[in-house]
Amino acid sequence: MSAPLLAVENLSISFPGEAGPVRVVDRVSLSIARGETLALVGESGSGKSMTALAMMRLVPKPGRIQPGAHIAFEGRDLLSLSVPDMRAVRGAGIGMIFQEPMTSLNPVTTVGDQVLEAIELHAKLSRAQARSHVIELFGLVGIPDAKHRFGAYPHQLSGGLKQRVMIAMAMAMRPRLLIADEPTTALDATIRAQILELLRDLSAKTETAVLLITHDFGVVNEVADRVAVMYAGEIVEEGSRGELLGHPRHPYTQGLLRSIPKAEARGHRLEEIKGSVPRPGHWPTGCRFHPRCPHAFAPCPGTEPQRTTVSATQAACCHLLDRSVEP
Ligand code: SF4
Repeated sequence: MSAPLLAVENLSISFPGEAGPVRVVDRVSLSIARGETLALVGESGSGKSMTALAMMRLVPKPGRIQPGAHIAFEGRDLLSLSVPDMRAVRGAGIGMIFQEPMTSLNPVTTVGDQVLEAIELHAKLSRAQARSHVIELFGLVGIPDAKHRFGAYPHQLSGGLKQRVMIAMAMAMRPRLLIADEPTTALDATIRAQILELLRDLSAKTETAVLLITHDFGVVNEVADRVAVMYAGEIVEEGSRGELLGHPRHPYTQGLLRSIPKAEARGHRLEEIKGSVPRPGHWPTGCRFHPRCPHAFAPCPGTEPQRTTVSATQAACCHLLDRSVEP
């Protein structure tokens, strides 16, 4: 088996708190193969975005990646790269699309110039070459009348077009990995479908791997090859899209799937997972999901469940799957 494009091992991130460091991400390990789309799913506050920022070494200060973590991209240890080398990885190796195109674009610079700047930062191209590359990119991401739109300011574009500009910027240096953090949250249903289709097309055409951060299983169903589910800072289940959506094994994944609105259930109350995600620093002992879990039993509050392999590609951390745990 070939080495993964990205391999994260034992990633923990802490912020200083009044009573000592507070973990927001806890011993996360995951990998992404070339050209693969991995969805990282969970409610807000589960640590998904912070995990993604760590891959770009952009954890906001005073947050810290804890010793013992490894993040390898194309075999290089990102955590030991110099600042200039890491800057070169950002953009050319790993591109990132943020949630809010409205706030990520500079309102006083044309969108063409903003993408051009991203290219000039990394590539030795003449201004004319860079400009024609931007126009080509705008075409690639489906911006109509790309030459004309080069000179538009963000406020002159719709939300969907702004998100396409952000994707063009992230794709400018043809990264091998694209991190997309809730890329469709601010968009209406039609534009959302178009942006998801664009991500799928780009990934297929350019063999770019995608790490998609989302809380929405509808998005997962449309684009993911594999899924990892996060809860209270840790990955509690992972597997192929078919396994996760068809046979979820962790009660949290099962609860998330039950809480999706379904057309045939119109008029019935939606099933919700009771309670809310515990805040960092207030994670329960044992299984962190136990206060919300409808299947919690004797060992759950006191003993942390270990990862149990369910198939070649699916695994989950739940005592119900672990035959060595006595009920
Ligand atoms: Fe529920 Fe216990 Fe499994 Fe946690 S370990 S998910 S509390 S059954």
